[in-house]
Amino acid sequence: MTDIVVLGSTNMDLVAYVEKAPQRGETVTGREFRTIPGGKGANQAVAAAHAGATVSMIGAVGNDSFGARLRSTLEHSGVNTDHLRTVESPSGTAHIVVDDEGGNAIVVVPGANGTVDHLAPGDEGLIASADALLLQLEVPLPAVVAGARAARAHGVRTILTPAPARPLPPELLAAVDLLVPNEHEATTLTGRTDPREAAAALLDSVPEIVVTLGAAGSLYVTRGAEPVLVPAPQVAAVDSTGAGDTFVGALAVARGEDRPIREALAWAAAAAALSVQRPGASASMPYRSEIDKQYA
Ligand code: ADP
Repeated sequence: MTDIVVLGSTNMDLVAYVEKAPQRGETVTGREFRTIPGGKGANQAVAAAHAGATVSMIGAVGNDSFGARLRSTLEHSGVNTDHLRTVESPSGTAHIVVDDEGGNAIVVVPGANGTVDHLAPGDEGLIASADALLLQLEVPLPAVVAGARAARAHGVRTILTPAPARPLPPELLAAVDLLVPNEHEATTLTGRTDPREAAAALLDSVPEIVVTLGAAGSLYVTRGAEPVLVPAPQVAAVDSTGAGDTFVGALAVARGEDRPIREALAWAAAAAALSVQRPGASASMPYRSEIDKQYA
């Protein structure tokens, strides 16, 4: 089994569903409220575990009821939480208003995630024992850089999702093996709107890039080879929350099994296509048998 470590965020998503989002100073009555465990780190951990990997999570939750639920959600998916610390802080939260047109407005309060600014004792040993380290940008950059460097020092493949989009220090990119931006993130990193041009520009810093293209699939580039464009299955999407995280989790598993890149991308696209057909993020992440069926 592929052994994956995720260093990243856990958030409780607090979602209010409304007809129309309130303007400043306005109060509106919502239709429904849900608390949904999320955070890009936790989502990728669940996605990889469901896709068939052994997964451990490095991060932090708060000493509140959200923290307990975030931890148990991970454990329920088979994710090892021995390196998920409980800290004296509120858990990370995302305050989300979803309107009837599917548009949303989000406030993220990092909370406990903000304390993940270094590797704790034992974290480096855990990373060293893995096949791959998955990173995103919802915990402070010093921890992301330290994680990537630890992985590089031990020959562990590092996969970075550069979200939320922001410019990245060269020392981070230098320690990344595979970068997986969506189109928006690829543009933020390079200033180029064309995914092919953006990916080509990123090859100066990282050996392998996958740009995810939403319903259009994904584009893989590496030095010295033709780009590979793999379409996504055509499905009726109901909720694309967590599509990118599902894609990355499954891609990490397929690459850990040394499957050829075209096959790995198609398998990840099958996983993401299943997730967009179901509401919610982590709850919608498909299991290996389902992915195999969609892929076939
Ligand atoms: P993010 O969720 O990070 O914004 P994308 O929108 O690019 O990233 O989606 C990630 C992947 O999820 C895509 O590469 C694709 O495989 C899959 N996906 C997203 N939206 C759809 C859709 N409407 N239909 C099928 N697959 C989708």
